[in-house]
Amino acid sequence: MRSILEKQKEIPVIATPDVLVVGSGPAGIAASIASARTGAKTMLIERYGFIGGNLTTSMVNPIFTFHDINGRQIIKGIAEELILRMREQGSSPGHVTDLTFDNASMTPFDPEGCKVILFNMMEEAKVQLLLHTLVVNTQVEKGRILSVIIENKSGRQAICPRYVIDCSGDADVAVQAGAEYVCGKKEDGSMQPATLYFRIGGVNNAELRSWMKKNSHLLKGNPTEEEIDNQKAIAFLGMNHLVNDAIQSGDLDKEIAPRILMYELPHGEFSINCTRLQNINGSNADDLTKAEIRLRKQVIQVYHFIKKMIGGFENSYVVDTGIQVGIRETRHIVGDHILTEEEVLNGTSFIDGIACGTFAIDIHPPHGKEQIFTGSGKAVYEIPYRCMLPVGFHNLIVAGRSISATHTAAGSIRVMATCMAIGQAAGTSAAILSQKNCSTREIDIPLLRKTLLNQGQYLLNEPISEEIDERLILKRVDGNGEMGGHYNPFSIKKIK
Ligand SMILES: Cc1cc2nc3c(=O)[nH]c(=O)nc-3n(C[C@H](O)[C@H](O)[C@H](O)COP(=O)(O)OP(=O)(O)OC[C@H]3O[C@@H](n4cnc5c(N)ncnc54)[C@H](O)[C@@H]3O)c2cc1C
Repeated sequence: MRSILEKQKEIPVIATPDVLVVGSGPAGIAASIASARTGAKTMLIERYGFIGGNLTTSMVNPIFTFHDINGRQIIKGIAEELILRMREQGSSPGHVTDLTFDNASMTPFDPEGCKVILFNMMEEAKVQLLLHTLVVNTQVEKGRILSVIIENKSGRQAICPRYVIDCSGDADVAVQAGAEYVCGKKEDGSMQPATLYFRIGGVNNAELRSWMKKNSHLLKGNPTEEEIDNQKAIAFLGMNHLVNDAIQSGDLDKEIAPRILMYELPHGEFSINCTRLQNINGSNADDLTKAEIRLRKQVIQVYHFIKKMIGGFENSYVVDTGIQVGIRETRHIVGDHILTEEEVLNGTSFIDGIACGTFAIDIHPPHGKEQIFTGSGKAVYEIPYRCMLPVGFHNLIVAGRSISATHTAAGSIRVMATCMAIGQAAGTSAAILSQKNCSTREIDIPLLRKTLLNQGQYLLNEPISEEIDERLILKRVDGNGEMGGHYNPFSIKKIK
């Protein structure tokens, strides 16, 4: 490939925070609030004009998952605070039963309401925000990041922080700094597919519920009339055969997920998670371009399918689409510990555990059609602090979906409640470190865990009161085959 030499130039240093957080997704928002609240001068950089990452940009909904299948709440802290605030303002019904993926709870929310609440939370915590700004490079000396280079409408500038938390989802900062990473699956580099979310408005809820009752055989788990009536927010999964027929007849793109999956949001819209494209590397601009074009076409196809086939959608319309395609997986840093599938499924706790997760391992196999779930929320596992530390760096922490985990383990930790819990731990760690100015590996782990507990977070093997929400205890785990390959080793029935 032809190349040119870019001319060196002097650029201004515009900030010297204690902690710089890059990326404002679930991990970044929790990291920056936690860091600022723990006393560090904190700055948050985001490339878009609002914050929230997949919560708001790709419009991923609902948030999974705060509870294990026994109704025990295993993620609290800043993530729970966000939900409470959204509830208060009518932007979320709170945690409701999940009838789609055999998790105890799911948490639908309104992305527009979420955007404002997140800005308020940043302001209250006194996090310095810089929006419309892309992090493009780093300067590193002996494993220390000296500066982070940014680009925006004001030009090219530098920030010299003491600690950096990379919450870009793609581990951009770590990679720019030269950290080791694995893209997707270690064996062949394949990654989970991309999906463009969209929302449908104008749905007649009563007619939809009545259609669901008449056609419950088309839905996962064949829900009873009572279960459909009791759904505070409709969670709709099924119609696999009909979607497959439409794919065969050419009405739907052959790569579309072979089922209809949609969730009711607080103001009556439905969030649709159906489009899908394989072989997209979300850290490659050509691939992203291809995905934006093809998935937008899929949106229209799926919308027409839903309108034609499902009752209650006759007068509906597409409200909006995510402002970018949703990327499930790209780079995983190689950290001091690599979280594995066994550790997730066995509910492993760690001496340096800093956050809990319980979501099933949710993989849309890169070379397959079906979505495969393993686990289903019985095993509550911890994520060790070491998974956030890229090998060889002393002032860099990585939080969110790109922490050090195998492709399979990442299939569980990637959900948004878990990413918020990891982010909270990352921000708290960086603030504690900045009090002593020491290397990330010199952190006082018992102090970190105690601080997280004092913040209201949940950790395993600690004397904390366990809150059980009786309403969320999963009464039925059946994975009746509607979900391709659903295997739940902890369920009453085992489905191969
Ligand atoms: C299609 C799809 C469906 C999903 N379904 C669910 C679901 O139902 N429930 C659930 O809980 N989770 C779901 N997830 C997973 C979840 O949304 C993500 O794994 C999670 O949001 C990751 O959080 P994060 O903070 O690590 O990264 P992100 O949410 O990706 O946030 C990263 C942020 O960093 C910013 N950024 C990136 N690079 C730079 C840069 N160089 N400079 C400045 N800013 C930058 C981005 O703009 C973004 O705001 C889904 C994901 C996808 C894609």
